[in-house]
Amino acid sequence: MADSKDQKSLSQKLSDYVSFVAKQPKGFVYREERTKTAAPKQAATKTKKQGLEELFCKYVDCQACPLATQGRTQVVFGNGNASTRLMFIGEGPGKDEDEQGLPFIGRAGQLLTKIIEAMDMKREDVYISNVVKCRPPGNRVPLPIESNTCKNLLLFKEIDIIKPQIICTLGATATQAVLGDDVKITKARGMFFSFKGIPVIPTYHPAYLLRNPAEKKTVWEDMKKIMEKFKELSV
Ligand code: SF4
Repeated sequence: MADSKDQKSLSQKLSDYVSFVAKQPKGFVYREERTKTAAPKQAATKTKKQGLEELFCKYVDCQACPLATQGRTQVVFGNGNASTRLMFIGEGPGKDEDEQGLPFIGRAGQLLTKIIEAMDMKREDVYISNVVKCRPPGNRVPLPIESNTCKNLLLFKEIDIIKPQIICTLGATATQAVLGDDVKITKARGMFFSFKGIPVIPTYHPAYLLRNPAEKKTVWEDMKKIMEKFKELSV
């Protein structure tokens, strides 16, 4: 008898609920659906790729520094494997990068790809970004206001999301943006520093190597140090 009474009461409750829903205004959301969309666990499981996509979405039409109005075609975000162990950082997009919306795809980028492959990796294994995401006119060096604004809005957040095991800065602009203005590329090249606990090794920019091919050997020595460091880190 108790079961039948409970069932009757359940059926009555259901009927009451259906008529309650029918009286609600358009757009009423059933309680279980609200619970699903508001679940805090979803934020905790966000992938690094999703984190980068969310970050970039905010700055697709960034106007935060003078480079926004100096002839850029588009904002060129970092690109590559969000779960990488190795992140390269260059200076800023050039003409090809500005046109195609990807970093390091011109001649210097092709040389960087060869260097990565000589390290027994593929380009898709690493992540490549720049200090400024918009092309400086005539490929000039970014001004301090441009570098400082962009690195704080984007580059440092990319590093926070990716958390690479090693960062390799390419050239003076990237080295100083990450390690400070008093660090000179000629002295710091090939040495390990630290940024937020991540080992950082500066080396020459591939564009410099195109003008000074004799320095390719020097850069290769630096890449060997990166490979050695990976071995140390995986012990
Ligand atoms: S360089 Fe960076 S901060 Fe400046 S407008 Fe482009 S995305 Fe924004």
